[in-house]
Amino acid sequence: MNGKNNNLDILPMKQWDMDLGERPIIIAGPCSAETEEQVLSTAHLLSGRGIKIFRAGIWKPRTRPNTFSGVGERGLPWLRRVKQETGMMTTTEVASARHVYEALKYGIDILWIGARTTANPFLMQEIADALQGVDLPVMIKNPINPDLDLWIGAIERIYNAGIRRIAAIHRGFSTYGQSIYRNEPNWQIALDLKAQLPNIMLINDPSHIAGRRDLLQSVAQKAMDLSFDGLMIEAHITPEQAWSDAHQQITPDQLMELLSNLQLRKAQAQDRLLEEELVKLRAQIDVFDSLLMEILSDRMNVVRRIGELKKRYNMTIFQEKRWQQIILRAQQVAGEKGFSSSFVEKLFKLIHQESIGQQTLIMNKERKAEHATKEKA
Ligand code: PEP
Ligand code: MN
Repeated sequence: MNGKNNNLDILPMKQWDMDLGERPIIIAGPCSAETEEQVLSTAHLLSGRGIKIFRAGIWKPRTRPNTFSGVGERGLPWLRRVKQETGMMTTTEVASARHVYEALKYGIDILWIGARTTANPFLMQEIADALQGVDLPVMIKNPINPDLDLWIGAIERIYNAGIRRIAAIHRGFSTYGQSIYRNEPNWQIALDLKAQLPNIMLINDPSHIAGRRDLLQSVAQKAMDLSFDGLMIEAHITPEQAWSDAHQQITPDQLMELLSNLQLRKAQAQDRLLEEELVKLRAQIDVFDSLLMEILSDRMNVVRRIGELKKRYNMTIFQEKRWQQIILRAQQVAGEKGFSSSFVEKLFKLIHQESIGQQTLIMNKERKAEHATKEKA
């Protein structure tokens, strides 16, 4: 972590000058505004259940053509009515300068930038330019590809336009192939963002990560366990009939149930005894971490000796059979210790990569030495 972005003076959420409601901050509403009736009835139900921020996509970036791509400008007065009738704040996605101007005209309270837009520096700059001199909160979704710098770059462009109320929305990352998620969460990227921009408000979007209703609860819980500040969840009066993202939307009542099932934990220990206990346990962890490094270093010394033998007897560095044995053994021990097999596999792959790197250094060093002797001769 280089922490090089700590100098961005993003306003901590506590200083946002509007009432964001209790923590976690909940943003809810349909994927898309479809009809005035659908927007208003969903909004009234959500508002009646205490939700303070209403979302609805007006311009929808769709993967395939010939699918519903949003109602466009004519949906903006519906959002204005939501604000007038319920007092909720409204938010919608903007993907161009024109969207920004239109949204401002209709008094949208918060703008959000979608994942496909964050990934496009030209569009981000165009939006940032349109936001010059505008004092509106902006939420920036992660780019569709797992690229932390691209996410930070988009945030910086908005920041450079003078916006200080900035939130980041973690909505997962595209992958090709099998996954239970529509978008792989890669939680570490969101945590790395928070480490680089400690003040930023971090919202999780379980709907676009999960892509299906039955996974929403567990994704939302994970976000709470990782100290996210809020959740953006798609809610619709008749989810099965939604014109976009029908599999992942839930009714306002289901949303309430999900929220009431969440276990909220505190980021800081309030109690002094608990704090002392944590300090003691963390000291133990530090000791174990040092031991781990010692053991890894001893292991690496053996790896280097093997590397020398391989060089002397002209063997390849990578030995398929041996690698299979290592993984198999590790998997067995993992089972006994209660670790997940994917964790053990990743861990040993990393160790193995480093071992190969170390042995390659040995081979190259000797090769260079040989080369130098031949040259001399
Ligand atoms: C959305 O929020 O409906 C949306 C299109 O999200 P994303 O940009 O994360 O795909
Ligand atoms: Mn959606």
